[in-house]
Amino acid sequence: MLKLDFHPAGRHFLQIPGPSPVPDRILRAMSYPTIDHRGPEFGALGLKVLDGIKKIFKTQQPVVIYPASGTGAWEAALVNTLSPGDTVLMFETGHFATLWKKMAESLGLKPEFLGLPGVEGWRRGVQSQMIEERLRADTERKIKAVCVVHNETSTGVTSDIAAVRRAIDAADHPALFLVDTISGLASADYRHDEWGVDVTVSGSQKGLMLPPGISFNAVSKKALAASKEAKLPRSFWGWDEIIEMNKGGYWPYTPNTNLLYGLNEALEMITDEGLDNVFARHNRLAEACRRAVRAWGLEIQCEDPAVYSPVLTGVMTPQGIDADAVRKVIYERFDMSLGTGLGKMKGRMFRIGHLGDCNDLTLMATLAGCEMGLQLAGVPLAGSGLPAAMAFLASEAKAATLKAAA
Ligand code: PLP
Repeated sequence: MLKLDFHPAGRHFLQIPGPSPVPDRILRAMSYPTIDHRGPEFGALGLKVLDGIKKIFKTQQPVVIYPASGTGAWEAALVNTLSPGDTVLMFETGHFATLWKKMAESLGLKPEFLGLPGVEGWRRGVQSQMIEERLRADTERKIKAVCVVHNETSTGVTSDIAAVRRAIDAADHPALFLVDTISGLASADYRHDEWGVDVTVSGSQKGLMLPPGISFNAVSKKALAASKEAKLPRSFWGWDEIIEMNKGGYWPYTPNTNLLYGLNEALEMITDEGLDNVFARHNRLAEACRRAVRAWGLEIQCEDPAVYSPVLTGVMTPQGIDADAVRKVIYERFDMSLGTGLGKMKGRMFRIGHLGDCNDLTLMATLAGCEMGLQLAGVPLAGSGLPAAMAFLASEAKAATLKAAA
């Protein structure tokens, strides 16, 4: 039974791939008094965050902020751009791509779900060549949108979005390009404008280091034009009214004031560190994590090194070992949460999140908790992963010190 009075010493290790730990600085900012969302102070805050978030998406176009989880922003992307019965091409990268496809079905769209056989797509990410071939075959231009997940949180695979754009262009196809980077934004390199994405969907509780509760649509000019013709019913999600009111820093309804204080703080933190440094830190931690997993003799869920995720690492447990039983030992003994295997990977893997407010030592402690838990759960390991991760982090630290001194 869950013991609600369980308060172990120290902080809980929230190493799931989102929600990620919220830094104290952001929590403090969120504790400011809630203000009048029609007043002048709020307007100034609204304008600041609406402008600041554009830099994270790397866009000059509007970014709509919803008081909703990522799922709401998924729905917004579809209902603003499409009409009942429209065909949409989606790629099966994993559990979240599957959920987005189910949503498209329930909204009355006709999704075509491309993918590699079995769980191959869950280990290799989007195959842009397959998208190009399908689009070339669509001579009647029935496909109205291509939808892909950038960082598939269920597997730890970060697909090549620029390659999908090239595939759409190579097929000379007019479909809109919709991308979910709910778990990629502010952790993995992402370029809404440069990659020609029409709607980018994201959320607050991952790389932005905020609690769950706000989500985003970055909207291209082409998507905005499509929204004027799109016939799917929408009210709350409708871009037009929101974008109009956003010009003054306001929303047509009551926005999530305290989360926007948090967003303002997060944007400052990310800007202070520098986006490129944020990405480099994520890449470094992910590489250290993978080195540990290899030293344990366990398999990394992602099979293609070109698309390893900087956000999380999926670790497969040996045949016959329930990954959730390992997670349970780690949770109960070491007060650390790891991500469960989702959908087709249930019981076969656990996911280590190394995103957001995570540093070298957070990762080392996380890996120590994993290693001790794996041993306690009786998983045979080839060796310790800690020296491998530590040696890598130490060499990176040395290189950084030398660079700074040069
Ligand atoms: N898409 C991806 C890639 C996700 O990781 C998630 C949540 O983890 C979602 C969509 C759904 O977002 P939410 O749970 O915030 O509604």
